Amino acid sequence: MSEKRALVAGGAGFLGSHLCERLLADGYSVVALDNLHTGSEDNLVSFRDRPRFEFRRQNVIDPLAGEFDEIYSLACPASPVHYQADPIATWETSVLGVRNLLKLSEKCGARLLHASTSEIYGDPLMHPQEEHYWGNVNTIGIRSCYDEGKRAAETLIADYRRVKNVDARMVRIFNTYGPRMHPQDGRVVSNFIMQALHDRPITIYGDGTQTRSFQYVDDLIRAMRLFMDKPRDEVDGFFARHKLGTPVLNTGNPGEYTMKQLAEEVLRLIPDSRSQIVYEPLPADDPKKRKPDITLAKELLGWEPQVPLSEGLKSTIAYFVTR
Ligand code: UDP
Repeated sequence: MSEKRALVAGGAGFLGSHLCERLLADGYSVVALDNLHTGSEDNLVSFRDRPRFEFRRQNVIDPLAGEFDEIYSLACPASPVHYQADPIATWETSVLGVRNLLKLSEKCGARLLHASTSEIYGDPLMHPQEEHYWGNVNTIGIRSCYDEGKRAAETLIADYRRVKNVDARMVRIFNTYGPRMHPQDGRVVSNFIMQALHDRPITIYGDGTQTRSFQYVDDLIRAMRLFMDKPRDEVDGFFARHKLGTPVLNTGNPGEYTMKQLAEEVLRLIPDSRSQIVYEPLPADDPKKRKPDITLAKELLGWEPQVPLSEGLKSTIAYFVTR
């Protein structure tokens, strides 16, 4: 069998670079597409010289070329600090970028896996969040460029399946962390670790009782590959039985922590740190709680996260120390 060709849009990002590396290890030839807006060529160093790897510096909303068997849609800034810095570009990347990738999938008959997000649930009124939940999202707030952009992308994918029969699937990714997160990313895990390593105050926003569920990057990449590998008839049958129609799976670690607990865990793992916890104002529309229901992913993929928070944090701290 000839080797499979994969396109990873957002391939120089935190998640995209891990996915490229996994695909290369699995024998794929890989094209990584990235405009390096939040991604970095540093993330590619360990594999960029491999013969089956190609990097293309390009915006995902510009015309795309090539023949692929699999297309992975990960191109979008994902940290609140970054996606709010240029909200119009964020919405365009999310919606027009996915439209571009769907057109390419249609043209070359490629299967597409899209990185959606737990943000589509907004500030959820259902807890934990399962895939049938429609969410509680502000259309005009500072997070809306991302949340509504990702929701519109899901709509487009569902319609491309119904109207054009494109074999597209989605994962709704809950907070994910690990090596190659950008140290200035602004997200809570990278912030707390960088602050603790540099003896700076640990900035908890609000009173620190809001919760998140943190998934280690390797667990996510494993779920994405398993989902992409599932035959179409099996996937279609599974989601028809579960009355979702469009294939969409939560991927996250159901372990739920308050931001105060996370700060304490980071300080426990960096015992030499002289950092103190400080409290700062909570950003607008910050979800109060978040925890995935992963029943469907367990059933379809036989998958569940394997890396506990303390272990994943240790590897992430080690990465930031060497950087
Ligand atoms: N947060 C915090 N301190 C920080 C950065 C974030 O307390 O330095 C909080 C933030 O308000 C949110 C949670 O941590 O409640 C997760 O924020 P993040 O930006 O990582 O991702 P989100 O899940 O909000 O997209």
